[in-house]
Amino acid sequence: MRYLVTGAAGFIGSHLTEALLEQGHDAVGLDSFTDYYDTVRKRENAAGLDVVEGDLLDVDLDALLDSVDGVYHLAGQPGVRASFGPGFEHYVSRNVHASARLFESAARHRLRVVYASSSSVYGDAETYPTGEDALPRPISPYGVTKLCVEHLAYAHARTTGLDAVGVRYFTVYGPRQRPDMAFTPLLEALDAGVPFRLYGDGSASRSFTFVADAVVGTIAAMARGREGELYNIGGGEEAAMTDAIALAERIADRELHVERHGAAAGDVRRTRADVRKAEGQLGWRPTTPLADGLRAQWEWVAARVAAP
Ligand code: NAD
Repeated sequence: MRYLVTGAAGFIGSHLTEALLEQGHDAVGLDSFTDYYDTVRKRENAAGLDVVEGDLLDVDLDALLDSVDGVYHLAGQPGVRASFGPGFEHYVSRNVHASARLFESAARHRLRVVYASSSSVYGDAETYPTGEDALPRPISPYGVTKLCVEHLAYAHARTTGLDAVGVRYFTVYGPRQRPDMAFTPLLEALDAGVPFRLYGDGSASRSFTFVADAVVGTIAAMARGREGELYNIGGGEEAAMTDAIALAERIADRELHVERHGAAAGDVRRTRADVRKAEGQLGWRPTTPLADGLRAQWEWVAARVAAP
């Protein structure tokens, strides 16, 4: 099969594209290389992959979709904190407008789209572990745009026959993790012996999800996801930031100098994924323990820093 992967130069998209190629599929990427974080990292991610440089907002999508059997839509504007203030317009254009354009074209081409949503749609959730039926109440503008994308997919499914499956990722980590997420700066600070800025008191916890597990769940959603459904793709282990810091210190065999800051707007207290639906319908569950995944990310950070 041949797939289009949007956001293929990004963190998860580059791993997904590699996994598809390893499984014997053909994959073409599309990425606009936004400057939300250093594009040098995106060029590194995309090295060796076939990635067309183009923006979903104006690229000739019909021409791209003519030659594929399905679309993985991971392009978007991530990050909770930057979604407050004037940066919000990027969230609206890169998440809402870009997805609307893709959904319209995919519906015309009768192609399945597996698209990236987020645990951020739950906000401070009603219940933990949180199942897909919990009332979505995002507390960040980012989460609001991701929820909007889910509703757009539903609207297109009802009116234009779009076949879309949504995956709600929970804090994905591992090699190539974005530098605005916690583990990459934490491990880079450990490596360089400089302070790490911790937002909040460290008790906030997450269902940390190793990127290879997230990729397996995403591919399972294309193969076995039910039309119109949403699936939690979240790690089995919930850990507080203080636990993650202690684990990273043990892995690196170094002490981290933590610089404490107030909690950031939009950061929820807790996430914990209920993955029974993904287990039952996709045959997927996370398998990588946090200690193994964090060690893989540490080795990537150390190798990247050491590279000439
Ligand atoms: P990322 O920023 O590394 O990758 C996204 C890529 O999309 C970037 O390379 C960017 O240049 C590209 N892009 C943005 N707008 C585009 C446009 N209009 N046209 C073409 N390309 C465009 O982010 P990531 O962490 O790999 O996340 C991938 C997806 O998963 C995003 O949709 C994100 O919101 C979602 N998500 C990620 C996490 C996580 O923990 N990383 C959690 C929940 C949801």
